[in-house]
Amino acid sequence: MKNKSLFLLMITIENYINGELVAPVEGKYLDNYNPSKGEVYSQIPNSQANDVEKAVKAASEAFPEWSKKPKNERSKILVRLANLIDENLEELAKAEAMDNGKPYSLATRVDIPRASANIRFFATAILHNASESHHMEEGFTNFTLNHPLGVVGCISPWNLPLYLFTWKIAPAIASGCTVVAKPSEVTPMTAYLFSKLCIEAGIPKGVLNIVHGLGAHAGDAIVSHPKVKAISFTGGTATGKIIGRKAADSFKKTSLELGGKNPNIIFADCDFDKMLSTTLHSSFANQGQICLCGSRIFIEKPIYEKFKNALVEKLKTHTVGDPFNKETRMGALVSEDHLNKVLGYVSLAEEEGGTVLFGGNRLTIAGSENGYYMEPTVIEGLDYNCRTNQEEIFGPVVTLTPFETEEEVLEYANSTQYGLAATVWTENLSRAHRVSQELESGIVWVNCWLVRDLRTPFGGVKNSGLGREGGFRALEFFTEPKNVCIKY
Ligand code: NAD
Repeated sequence: MKNKSLFLLMITIENYINGELVAPVEGKYLDNYNPSKGEVYSQIPNSQANDVEKAVKAASEAFPEWSKKPKNERSKILVRLANLIDENLEELAKAEAMDNGKPYSLATRVDIPRASANIRFFATAILHNASESHHMEEGFTNFTLNHPLGVVGCISPWNLPLYLFTWKIAPAIASGCTVVAKPSEVTPMTAYLFSKLCIEAGIPKGVLNIVHGLGAHAGDAIVSHPKVKAISFTGGTATGKIIGRKAADSFKKTSLELGGKNPNIIFADCDFDKMLSTTLHSSFANQGQICLCGSRIFIEKPIYEKFKNALVEKLKTHTVGDPFNKETRMGALVSEDHLNKVLGYVSLAEEEGGTVLFGGNRLTIAGSENGYYMEPTVIEGLDYNCRTNQEEIFGPVVTLTPFETEEEVLEYANSTQYGLAATVWTENLSRAHRVSQELESGIVWVNCWLVRDLRTPFGGVKNSGLGREGGFRALEFFTEPKNVCIKY
């Protein structure tokens, strides 16, 4: 794949089924936009149930051989795939920036390296996990066999396209399952390039099948298919509910990683400079389109004014622009619909009595006038219970709220339907422990943000999800334990 430029011609993306790149059965395609230009630049299969049927058939046929393949061999093939991602870093990062609107530098530093790390992590994890055994004094011994489930479905969102796509499929394939996967229709390009790398790496045919298309068609067909044993889904809470209900009809296992409205809690005793620079990232990285971004910032009263002024000052030089410019800190939002949704929340915040301290508007970038750019936006003066502070915006918008006591800020932080991630800034160790313990959240970062050790449990509480990914937990999800009890 190396050195073939993506920028030359309109690309027609194809499905990857049974080891081959194929057109959708009904020959229908959807437009795919480059959000930084606001232009259609590729076509994506509008796959239907008949495409999913083909993919499930291929995955079913591949399962017996793949699931019986020695772990060592599965591991070697997957490590080869991880290496190929590294070798094609630049091309994949270009594709991600073009498809999603994110800065190229971010895709190069985070998205693509993490995609290969995901695959390498699970490819090697299978070599190290052990199963339990229990001995009984009465003369019996039990041991556990972990059987891969069979054909599983993986469905991923647009915000971290290849990063989250591989986070789902890597443990599935490594554990011996075969997969029918659907990337977001909004950002299909890196999954398409990835399917070419799978061919190059020698992934046996049918082990991974990638079907492109809309959630309501291709996605729904995966979730409804009787031969699909489990669904690993990352996306919005509303979609997660639909998938959970549908999967229950056929008792499919589900792992649901959903939305968030994460608190960033800043105590007056924090390391101010470190907090400020990290808060800039945790608020606006990837245009605020990371499920882990801290969109509700709570600041202890003695430093409220200092923080507010310092954040606004920093944003004056926080460059928004073309994803491929070196100075760009924020690129384009992923689509015009999404941009309008985010701008709608700024209007709502004003209706709810908020004051926009910085930003709030769509931006026109010279040379990319139709791109979906927006200013980083800071709002204050809102009640913690208002819609702006309760609903997921998923864009470059943060609200500032002062607080006086730990009890008060915990009430604010825990007030939403979500519980994905929280950040706490304090130099007081006891307070860090107390607050972390009381936060209703799957993940708490103290004096840091988005530090990820792939062995740790990842997921949310409340309406942020069901189940945990990461480490051996992800391998457990894709396997069925069987207890064997032997009398001796
Ligand atoms: P989305 O729910 O609209 O779509 C996610 C995926 O689901 C896409 O591939 C889509 O085509 C598919 N889909 C949609 N409807 C479906 C259906 N009925 N059946 C099957 N599949 C269907 O989410 P999005 O807009 O792509 O992503 C943004 C959301 O994802 C935000 O809410 C964000 O917080 C969340 N997210 C969560 C995490 C996490 O780890 N918890 C990570 C990233 C993003």
